[in-house]
Amino acid sequence: MIAVEKAKEILSDNARRGKTIKLPIAQTLGLVTAEDIYSPCDVPNFDNSAMDGYAIKWDEGNNRRKLNLSVSGKAGSGQIPQLSPDQAFRIFTGAPMPAGSDTVIPQEYVESSADELTFEIDRFKKGSNVRLQGNQNNKGDLILKSESKITPGTIGLLASVGITEVPVYAPPSIAVVVTGDELKEIGEKLAYGEIYNSNGPTLQAYLKHLGVESSKVYKVKDDAESLGMLVKDLLSQYDILLFSGGISVGDYDFVKEALYANRVEELFYKIKQRPGKPLFAGKTENQLVFALPGNPASVINCFNQYVKPMIKHWMGHSDVWASSAYLPTANSFEKKPPLTFFLKGQITPEGVRILGGQESFNLISFGVCDVFVEIPEEMCTVEEGTLLKVYYW
Ligand code: AMP
Ligand code: MG
Repeated sequence: MIAVEKAKEILSDNARRGKTIKLPIAQTLGLVTAEDIYSPCDVPNFDNSAMDGYAIKWDEGNNRRKLNLSVSGKAGSGQIPQLSPDQAFRIFTGAPMPAGSDTVIPQEYVESSADELTFEIDRFKKGSNVRLQGNQNNKGDLILKSESKITPGTIGLLASVGITEVPVYAPPSIAVVVTGDELKEIGEKLAYGEIYNSNGPTLQAYLKHLGVESSKVYKVKDDAESLGMLVKDLLSQYDILLFSGGISVGDYDFVKEALYANRVEELFYKIKQRPGKPLFAGKTENQLVFALPGNPASVINCFNQYVKPMIKHWMGHSDVWASSAYLPTANSFEKKPPLTFFLKGQITPEGVRILGGQESFNLISFGVCDVFVEIPEEMCTVEEGTLLKVYYW
């Protein structure tokens, strides 16, 4: 049995990165860039107006200027009209500046008659309200660094320079295997002694949330032979295998044997923590395998503390092990065993409240839980106001 920090260290030494693939930008939300991205063009691509108003040629000397309002041209789509110094051109936001003009007077600052326009010149200066070509970036500029998370905003940035495909780290393909003779699917009727498979939907929801599209849930009986065959089959198809249940010391816990039999190398088994002590982590040459203890709160905790960071690293994220924040506790808590506890907590104005219902089978507090609160192995009494690491889950 190893300490939480040791387990994280071992995993971090064995973390893998996905291959680089190119995807259409619409499919990259939440993924991470695998290369620096350079702009193929200037943005803006032409000098244009930042306001609805009038394009003019600046003249320093004139305090109050009266100009002939040219009605012949609205500076807009495509054509660039030519402006003489005594003319003003009606112009709208984003439209190209007429040749010979350099300044835009917003319409709310002018008095205009049918063919003449007057404005106070001291409110403005040469170049006011004009977005110059290349103001955002020039052709060839670095616009997004490698290992940046792609957000709706960065998709906008990439589209604004006309990029169609982005090199990103490919998410891993993941098989989720739920084990247990007692498991039924939602929609089925429970016989005495049976329970619903909640870990399958939980893990699949997490994977979807992380941007792992190619995951599939398999269900297998507590039977050594079926498990062995399934493991062999899945190792030929997936990058990461996630098991739920069957990893404790019960008579029906066959997962570890099935993994050993298929030459999965153990990284560790059992962590000094609650919930989720009997966590198994292993690897093959190119794959990772996690076997999570079956209790639902153990699954959620183990996934968050160990599996999620490894998947995020695979997908190119950095800082994957950091806690979300340190928060003071809003209540006190006593713990006896020398284990690290990860407790469901709710964020309140007074700090993080450690919730009731912390048993590993108990999911009820997830309805109000905001974070997992980490109580270090050596801490027995948590006084109200103790600063502790918390993790969004
Ligand atoms: P195990 O680790 O297989 O001994 O399972 C520990 C506890 O978790 C038992 O009470 C199981 O019934 C329960 N459990 C196992 N798998 C699931 C699952 N997929 N969904 C909900 N509970 C489960
Ligand atoms: Mg079981």
